[in-house]
Amino acid sequence: MKSLKDLAVEGRTVLVRVDFNVPLDDEGRIRDDTRIRASLPTLNELVRRNARFVLCSHLGRPKGRVVPKLSLRGVAARLSELLGRDVRFSEEVIGPKASMLIRSLKDGEGVLLENVRFHEAETSNDEGFARRLAEGIDIFVNDAFGSCHRAHASVTAVARHVRDAGAGLLLEKEVNSLSRAFRSPLKPYTAILGGAKVSDKIPVIENLLNKADDILIGGAMAYTFFKARGEDVGKSLVEDDKLETARSILEQAEKRNVRFLLPEDHVLAASLEQAVSTGTAGAFPLPPDRMAVDIGPKTIDAFSRVIAGSKTIFWNGPLGVFEVPAFSRGTIRIAEAVAGSGALSIVGGGDSAAAVSKAGVGDRISHISTGGGASLEFLAYETLPGLEALGWKK
Ligand code: AMP
Repeated sequence: MKSLKDLAVEGRTVLVRVDFNVPLDDEGRIRDDTRIRASLPTLNELVRRNARFVLCSHLGRPKGRVVPKLSLRGVAARLSELLGRDVRFSEEVIGPKASMLIRSLKDGEGVLLENVRFHEAETSNDEGFARRLAEGIDIFVNDAFGSCHRAHASVTAVARHVRDAGAGLLLEKEVNSLSRAFRSPLKPYTAILGGAKVSDKIPVIENLLNKADDILIGGAMAYTFFKARGEDVGKSLVEDDKLETARSILEQAEKRNVRFLLPEDHVLAASLEQAVSTGTAGAFPLPPDRMAVDIGPKTIDAFSRVIAGSKTIFWNGPLGVFEVPAFSRGTIRIAEAVAGSGALSIVGGGDSAAAVSKAGVGDRISHISTGGGASLEFLAYETLPGLEALGWKK
């Protein structure tokens, strides 16, 4: 897979797939511009090398229709401020107006195209749409790691219609950091998995069973494992159709000598809406009218000890309902333990990244991935459709 550094972008027109899927408030204003800032190294490099750049991104899920609230126009304005130079905005993704704007670019100038998901052809990976997206483009650079697990036209098909293609600086950094976790991790290698669903994480757990020394499980997904073991978990969130899979994962962990740690104690609540804890339980059965919403203090200690002895750590998913302050303690304390471990630490996107920033320890994590789903899939399969389009080989 080529990198931007290997591509002859000087004086060329470069299509850059970026991830400007920023959170918006009710008025459509940008709530957090981290993702725009993350694109600056690649864009500054393109400016420095006198390339002409055409930026393409999705925003939200407009499902193939024009949804004015999900326009990227505001992002173009913010990007212009951050980059310190004017980035124009094209109301069209493809079409005569977009082509004209692209043709009018001079060296070092750029334009941002409208939300690519306003076209249904984007998510159906339509070849004709990809060809039109590549009109007037010499080189394709993908810098949107968070979209690389999607076989969408602006991520995969478009690469077939340009002269050369490669990874942007952000994408390259993501791939290098995450590859270290599956190529030759320093041991002991600990994986921490949380969040709501086991189902999303089955392939990554199966991969980790071959690589990790310790797997620490928190969040609601722990209760699917407990129920699979025959415990009574009260009202806790369980995926009943995954009990068989959970049982098989527990058996495999035992066979392969992987330590598979589930919570030792559980913070309980009557419901998520009530947002107050009703105490902690250290044993099963859990009361029938209570659900587990966070890991308890004993679990925090046990998990923290394993974390402190680790050399490589991968973490994805909160260990409790961390959006509710009363249920966020476990996740915050684990973020602190990971930051203090001195291990190579990789945090996989979304909620865990938010937890790390809530704990104020982001600067002590080796790598915070910009892609939650993409980082999990990359760890599970060691490849992604968007990387293969750029020539990545496992
Ligand atoms: P996921 O997208 O699978 O990583 O799940 C993230 C979500 O899991 C967050 O919104 C958390 O609030 C939720 N979550 C974590 N622990 C629990 C729990 N014990 N019960 C219910 N939801 C949980």
